[in-house]
Amino acid sequence: MIEDLQKKIRDIPDFPKKGIVFKDITTLIKDGAAFQQVIDYFYEQFKNEQIDYVAAIESRGYIFGAPLAYKLGAGLVIIRKPGKLPAAVEKIEYDLEYGTDALEIHKDAIEAGKRVLVIDDLLATGGTVCAACQLLEKVGANVVAIAFMIELKDLNGALKLPRNAKLFSLFAY
Ligand code: AMP
Repeated sequence: MIEDLQKKIRDIPDFPKKGIVFKDITTLIKDGAAFQQVIDYFYEQFKNEQIDYVAAIESRGYIFGAPLAYKLGAGLVIIRKPGKLPAAVEKIEYDLEYGTDALEIHKDAIEAGKRVLVIDDLLATGGTVCAACQLLEKVGANVVAIAFMIELKDLNGALKLPRNAKLFSLFAY
């Protein structure tokens, strides 16, 4: 049951700073059956979308992006924090729920027009995933789907996302 899965996510108040309730997914992913179910839910959503690449956002996006790419038979593209990628990059700066940050992608990560599913663990204000989508568009990708394990609805992040992409979040708060 989806509700039983959701119960495995732990709330940590005032992390990483006062006023933020951090959704801790480590308590879900350490449960093998629960982790498998989460990936299977994602797979069911996207198995018919002809996804060429899963683009995962550092770092918790990788936890879900890698097994999902494997299951879909898609390539895995990593969107990283600055200074980590070795070849030529595109870079974008953006606002977070708590602070500012930047993301990078290899300029040659994706061939023009390829169908991409973007994945991260959680949608809060939408700043992170919006930046990721802009980076992907810069390198010529066609973002057709965006997936999260958790969506914090009150922050209205979904309003920032590209309208033409299929949005899926497993759990809403
Ligand atoms: P945002 O850019 O505001 O949508 O923030 C999303 C990013 O920040 C994701 O990569 C999350 O991992 C992280 N994040 C933001 N808020 C929380 C939260 N309340 N609990 C856990 N992670 C969060």
